[in-house]
Amino acid sequence: MTAKSYDKNNIFAKILRGEIPCNKVYEDEYALAFHDIAPKAPVHVLVIPKGAYVDLCDFARQASADEIAGFYKAATKIAADLGIEDAGFRTIANTGAGGGQEVPHFHIHLLGGGPLGPMISGNSRGIA
Ligand code: 5GP
Repeated sequence: MTAKSYDKNNIFAKILRGEIPCNKVYEDEYALAFHDIAPKAPVHVLVIPKGAYVDLCDFARQASADEIAGFYKAATKIAADLGIEDAGFRTIANTGAGGGQEVPHFHIHLLGGGPLGPMISGNSRGIA
C-alpha cells in the first residue's frame, strides 16, 4: 500500500513548524508532546511523531524502525515523567474518520490522572 496523502497544513504540522504555539511537555528527535487544548482527563497529553504520517497505519507502514521505537519510547517516558504510569493510564490512537480522528497527523492521546470510566460509551457500540 502506498503512503497516504499528507496535508502539510494540518494543525499539528503547524505546531511542529512552530507556526502555532502549544503547551509543550516533551520533545526529542522523534516526538513532540503537548497538552490537549480540550482535555478529557486531568492529564491529557498528545504525542506526535516528528515525521509526516497521517495515522497509525501510515506510521507503521512508512516510518523507520528507529522512528517507531523512538516514538513509543518517548511516549512511555512522558507517561512516567507525568506521574501517570504507576496508577495506570489510557492510550488512544483514533484512526481515520470512522475512528474519530480529527487531526490528520498521527498522534496518540495519553489520558490519566483520575478515573477514566469505561473504554467507550455504549452508544459507540450502536447500543442505545
Ligand atoms: P483526534 O480526534 O484527531 O484523535 O484528536 C485531536 C485532538 O487534538 C483533540 O483532542 C483536540 O482537542 C486536539 N486539538 C485540536 N486542535 C488543537 C490545538 O490547536 N492545540 C492542541 N494542543 N490540541 C488541539
